[in-house]
Amino acid sequence: MHCFAKITIVPFALAEWPWKDELELALEEIFGIEVSWHADVPLPPGAFDPARGQYRGTPFLEALMRLRRDPKEIMLGVTAEDLYDGGLNFIFGLASPAGVCVISLKRLDNRFYGLPQDDTLYFKRVLTEAVHEIGHVLGLPHCPNPHCVMHFSNSLADTDQKGYRFCPDCAAKAKAALCPK
Ligand SMILES: [Zn+2]
Ligand SMILES: [Zn+2]
Repeated sequence: MHCFAKITIVPFALAEWPWKDELELALEEIFGIEVSWHADVPLPPGAFDPARGQYRGTPFLEALMRLRRDPKEIMLGVTAEDLYDGGLNFIFGLASPAGVCVISLKRLDNRFYGLPQDDTLYFKRVLTEAVHEIGHVLGLPHCPNPHCVMHFSNSLADTDQKGYRFCPDCAAKAKAALCPK
């Protein structure tokens, strides 16, 4: 059976982001597999929609598929740009079970909403969205438990409520999709 053995985080034009080590360590702790950072890559050409001032999510997934070298590898893209996809006004992230996902940092920062900067809350949101999208790559659907990281987020309030931990059911499903040590 196919399984995933490592996570590669790909920064899209994100050279200056100060949370790289924290994110790597936190994902390693949660999934128990190797996590590393790819070199910085440019934003996908053609992803920007000038009429909306946002980027389409799908070209990020396509760029990640082209960078991917190993069928056991999960590629997690990170961008500071605002994303949308399909009929949605915006998305926190997007995933494909083919092994790739992307998160947008834009709407995770209090300052986007005119609120004071809060580093602790910001990083918790980043981790929550990253774990959620990786969960989708591992084949997990949305979960009805509002405290599970796989619960659907309609808003940042949902994200803040659920946190970055899997419920026991989802934790078991996630573990089954990871390669045995
Ligand atoms: Zn989701
Ligand atoms: Zn769950």
